[in-house]
Amino acid sequence: MARYCGSVCRLCRREGEKLFLKGERCLSTKCALERRNYPPGVHGQRRVKMKEYGMQLREKQKVKRMYGVLEKPFRTYFRKAGRKQGVTGENLLMFLETRFDSVVLKLGLASSRWQSRQLIRHNHFEVNGSRVNIPSFQVSQGDIIRVRENSRNKDVITESVEMRSDGQIPDWLDLDRKNLQGTVVNMPTRDSISTPINEQLIIELYSK
Ligand code: SF4
Repeated sequence: MARYCGSVCRLCRREGEKLFLKGERCLSTKCALERRNYPPGVHGQRRVKMKEYGMQLREKQKVKRMYGVLEKPFRTYFRKAGRKQGVTGENLLMFLETRFDSVVLKLGLASSRWQSRQLIRHNHFEVNGSRVNIPSFQVSQGDIIRVRENSRNKDVITESVEMRSDGQIPDWLDLDRKNLQGTVVNMPTRDSISTPINEQLIIELYSK
C-alpha cells in the first residue's frame, strides 16, 4: 500500500497550519511551524496571492494530509459520500472520522496518527472481539474497540491514555480507561468535528 514517507512537519508548513501529525511534539516549542512559519522550499518566503482554485486545492490537500489519506482513496471517499444520502461534505468528513486509525487516535490509544496506524498494523487492537489490522477499516455505531490482551502493558498505549484527558475525547466516543476499551456511542455529526475544515471548497474543487 502506498504511503507518504517524507517529513510530516513539511506538510504543516505547506498548509500554513498545525495538522498535529507528531503527537506531543506538536504542542511543544519544537514544532517546526513555531520556528519556521512559511512554506518549505527556496521560494517559501515569497508572498503569493491565493486565487479561488488555489484555496480549493489547499483545503483538499490539508484534509488529505490531516487524515493521512492519499489522492486515490480520498477520491473514493468523495464518490461514496456523494452517493450516500445527506450532505456530501459532511458525509466525506464522517467517512474520514470513522476510519479505524482516526478512532484509535481520538480515543487516545495512540499519540499520533502515524503511531495509531503502526499499532493497528501490528495487531494490537480488536473490534467486537475480532482482530482488525487495517487502518482504513470503517467503524460503526456500537462497535467496541479493545486493546488485545497481550498488548495491554505496552508503554506507548498506556502512556498515551494517561496523557489524554476525558475532555479531549469527542462525545461520540467513550473510553473505558481501566479496560483500555473504547465504544462508538454515536456516529459523528458535523458539529462534533471540531477541526477547522471548509469542506465546501473540496466539493467545489471536485465538481469542476
Ligand atoms: Fe505539524 Fe506537529 Fe510538525 Fe508542528 S510538530 S509542524 S504541528 S507535525
